[in-house]
Formats: sequence, C-alpha cells, structure tokens
Amino acid sequence: MISLTIDGAAVEVAEGASLLDACRAAAREQPTLCHAANLTPANACRICVVELEGSRALVPACSREAEEGMVVSTDSERVRHSRRMVLEFLASSTDLSLSGVDVWLEDYGADPGRYGPPARASERDRRHPGHHPPPDGLLAATVAQEVKVDNDLYVRDYSRCILCYKCVDACGVDAQNTFAITVAGRGFDATISTEYAVPLTASACVYCGNCIGVCPTGALMFRSEHELRAAGIWDEDDQSVTRTVCSYCGVGCNLELHVQGNRIVKVTSPMDDDITSGHLCIKGRFGYDYVQELGDLATTPIDEVLAGVRADGGSPAR
Ligand code: SF4
Ligand code: SF4
Repeated sequence: MISLTIDGAAVEVAEGASLLDACRAAAREQPTLCHAANLTPANACRICVVELEGSRALVPACSREAEEGMVVSTDSERVRHSRRMVLEFLASSTDLSLSGVDVWLEDYGADPGRYGPPARASERDRRHPGHHPPPDGLLAATVAQEVKVDNDLYVRDYSRCILCYKCVDACGVDAQNTFAITVAGRGFDATISTEYAVPLTASACVYCGNCIGVCPTGALMFRSEHELRAAGIWDEDDQSVTRTVCSYCGVGCNLELHVQGNRIVKVTSPMDDDITSGHLCIKGRFGYDYVQELGDLATTPIDEVLAGVRADGGSPAR
C-alpha cells in the first residue's frame, strides 16, 4: 500500500493508484471531464489538476500515480485559480449546457461571459491550421458549427466538443480498435474528424457507439435523443432505465435500456459490467428497433408477429 496526505488527511491506496483514486479514497472527489474508468487517462481537460508539494507545476490527478509520502492540496488558491481559468476557457468557447459543469462554474467563480459574446458558427472543417483571421477582440472565439447529421444512428455536434480525446481513445486502442476518428488540425482549429473529414457513412466507422458512451458533453448523441431534444420532448425525469442482457449473441453483454413513453430512446452499458466495461457493439447499442416494431408480444399472436417481420424483409433471428 502507498501512504500519502490529501488536504491534510492521511490516506492509503494500492500501488498503481492515481492521485484521483487517492482523492476519492479520502472522500475528496475532484472535477474532471476527460477521465473515465474504462479509458486510459488522456490528461486533456486539465480540470483535475492538484498542487503537489515539491512539484513546480500543478499535476493532473487523473494520470499522476500516487507515491509514498506525497503531500497533495486539492483546494489551494493556485488550484482554484487554474480550474477557474480552464473552466472559463472551455465554457466561453464551447456549448457545455449538457455537461453538468454549472455547479463547478459556480464553485470556482468562473465567469465565461467576461470574454464577450460568443462568435457565430463557422465552417471549421475547411480551416487550414495557422491560416485564420486574427480575433477581433469583440467576440469570444468559439467552436460553434452546424450539427453533423449524416446517418440514422447518431449525430455529432462539435459545438459541444472540448477535445477531451475520449471518443478517439474509445474508437482506438482502449475499446473498439477501429480508429475511425482522430484529432485533425492544430491549436484552436483542432477538431475531431474522420479521415479527410468525410461523412461517417464514408468512413471506417462501424457504429458501435462507444464514442457516444464516453462523450462527457453531449457532442456525440443518439439520433433519437437529438431529435427528441430538438422537439422539446426529451425528458430524463420521465425515463426508466432497465438493465438487461443483450439478446443478439452468447457473449452476454449487459444493456441499460432508457425508455420514455414506452419507447426505447437510448441504450447504454453499465461501467461495472465485467464483459463490456461500458462498451458495446452496433447490435447491442442500436439494434433495438425490432423490439418496438413487433408490437406487444403479450397480446399479439406470434404468427402475426412473424408475418410482420417477414413482410418487413427481416428475420426474427437477425
Ligand atoms: S461509432 Fe464506434 S467505430 Fe464509429 S467513430 Fe464511434 S467509436 Fe469509432
Ligand atoms: S466529441 Fe465528445 S468525447 Fe470526443 S473529444 Fe469531443 S467532447 Fe470528447
């Protein structure tokens, strides 16, 4: 075990634990957007930085390994100042309305509005790194852009993207190993992109939706959720979440069916499922339409159900 001090309290964690783990063990939860238990820490959002005695720079709690005798402060003025600046930069340039950061903005006294009103949406995909007009100093630069709706399953709203790398890592070595997306461009022009910014339908994407599952800001979203939100009828208070086992193959992945108005509106997988660690394939994630198109199995004769499926060109065993 490793012994260290967090905000004056002694804490013990297992060897290999991060400072974030140690903070949690000491009941000192830290804010973070880019950390997820099922991904390798990316150190991208810099919100979880803490002050480490003897270290010149603040250190990211999510990726810094705990060491014997460390003395850590999570709420010093230096930490609070850094977090306030990071939150202001993120919230002034990105739509964080679905990320739940409001409470942190308040806690750290962040005022994103002090950079001026947000600039309008732009064609960010067509920008060339290093070739953009200088800021006019009147508007806050933003990543605002049109929502990408190019397939039936999910949308990409990069106006909400904080470049946390979670989707890239979930699509890559941490889960899917498809490598359909990565970061393109440099500096403020950097974006998450498919190869040559082609639509998803022309990319290597296999629609596992694992990128959606880890996105902390709602930049990646089920099309069903996007459309219900646009219609003003997305209502999480009116949704139930039922844990079940995927019916497609014998692996036994756990699913969480989010149901609103007796319709499945979204499917996730629990992080504590040993099989999935929160990740799924296209069938488990998006293959639920057959449940809703078959009608009520309790009252519809099975012959009618099967006739309906066959007429639809499908198979009950698909
Ligand atoms: S849906 Fe899956 S394959 Fe497609 S971009 Fe997301 S993680 Fe990659
Ligand atoms: S799309 Fe979401 S998961 Fe991907 S980098 Fe942006 S905020 Fe992170």
